[in-house]
Amino acid sequence: MFLISDANKASDFIRELVKDKYEMLTDEFIGEGFQEKVAGISCSACKKGYMVARDSQHGSFFGCSQYPLCDHTQTACDWCGSGLKEKGRFRVCENKRCDFVEPVCPKCQGKLSLRKGSYGQFWGCSHYRKGAEFSCGHTEKFIDLKALKTKVYA
Ligand SMILES: [Zn+2]
Ligand SMILES: [Zn+2]
Ligand SMILES: [Zn+2]
Repeated sequence: MFLISDANKASDFIRELVKDKYEMLTDEFIGEGFQEKVAGISCSACKKGYMVARDSQHGSFFGCSQYPLCDHTQTACDWCGSGLKEKGRFRVCENKRCDFVEPVCPKCQGKLSLRKGSYGQFWGCSHYRKGAEFSCGHTEKFIDLKALKTKVYA
């Protein structure tokens, strides 16, 4: 079973990922709800690996099963765990029955989520970590949601 052995390899992937780049996120990979899933999505970067789903407290993402040969990662749908497809400046869920859409950060390809600040709502990058080495402070006041609505209400 090719897919299953790849899923096992992915455990090393996540350990490396946690150790090397995302030390401050370590907690997210521990505890209940952490499960390994293999999605039938091939890696768009190396075309050899498969995207292996990872859940964390702050959402899900996919990592390539060919890691460390390929360190491609892709965000997974927060709602249903399917893969997300790039569509303009948004990522939309590949699951046709799911309406999940998220805006993409133009700086780091992270996702932008709506936050409340003292001056009202704004879109902030999910890769913002106060005081962390790997942090993206990108924010936007307004995002044109018309592109979202064609997907959500069509
Ligand atoms: Zn890959
Ligand atoms: Zn979805
Ligand atoms: Zn960003």
